[in-house]
Amino acid sequence: MVDMNFQRELLKWYQDNKRELAFRKEKDAYKIWISEIMAQQTRIEAMLPYFERFMEACPNMESLAKCEEEKLNKLWQGLGYYSRARNLKKCAMQCMQEYAGQLPRTKKELEKLPGIGPYTAGAIASIAYNERVSAIDGNVNRVFSRLYNIHDDLRKSAGKKKIAEKVEASLPDASCISDYNQALMELGALVCTVGKPKCACCPIQAYCQAYQYADPSKLPVQSKLKQRRIEEKTIYILAHAHKISIKKRVQEGLLHNLYGFDEQLPEAYSLKIPLSSYTHVFSHVEWHMDAWLVRVDWEDETFHTIDEIKQFYAIPSAFMTFFKQIEAMHL
Ligand code: SF4
Repeated sequence: MVDMNFQRELLKWYQDNKRELAFRKEKDAYKIWISEIMAQQTRIEAMLPYFERFMEACPNMESLAKCEEEKLNKLWQGLGYYSRARNLKKCAMQCMQEYAGQLPRTKKELEKLPGIGPYTAGAIASIAYNERVSAIDGNVNRVFSRLYNIHDDLRKSAGKKKIAEKVEASLPDASCISDYNQALMELGALVCTVGKPKCACCPIQAYCQAYQYADPSKLPVQSKLKQRRIEEKTIYILAHAHKISIKKRVQEGLLHNLYGFDEQLPEAYSLKIPLSSYTHVFSHVEWHMDAWLVRVDWEDETFHTIDEIKQFYAIPSAFMTFFKQIEAMHL
């Protein structure tokens, strides 16, 4: 059993050590939602400039619901996993229709919206609305697996359930739920870190069972993910005069509806120059790509100058290496 006094120590530490994150300080549900979705695959410090840019373009639910897809993708460029951006817009449209332009106030209702899972719903409901609910992300899983010395596999439902029960049982009153959930996330991000945690300066060290009886660096236990599938691809960047061709990827699947380059060599061309090779890693697939610059003597509406592309079109990170190479060539 862990002594619940750890909460008091944790909250005290949080007051003195928390990072001043504007989107959390204001307790604005809209800002908390956007920041949580952006932070899913990106470190908070790295995502801050994206967040500011996004807020300028879409400061509220209505502007997001009306935001054109191209503009939204451009705002998301560099963050990857564009389905998150598409879900933000879908969710905003639903909130405009069903919740008078607001996010609903309970975890249960929030979880029904597109792109909002249990963690994000818990974070919004507890931080913005003080609902007494959990928000269990990777940081919280790690802290609790160590605090309670839990060796179950956290990729399996039994392990997840065990952590969730411990977190639920630890929730304080609604009056400090917002700070408590943020304090757990912050402890995981700053002190109880992946690999070797900084136990010497941990505010809850006296309560931590892994610190006392095990090796915290070996927790949490997580079985290996399935090996990624490898796909070999050849990319052809068609060029004419000072323009290159970019095309919307119409087929379903990865990078659907985003811009990319040709994957078939045209029948007629005047020159073919090898560019670099690049491997892009998605969660379940790796694209091993070789690229070529292909000079053609025609152009159509898919051809744009480099400056036009930079200004108006979102090139996914998977193709960015090739795009930058072309840019450096000053066609
Ligand atoms: S004592 Fe170490 S392992 Fe335990 S919660 Fe603190 S940082 Fe994590």
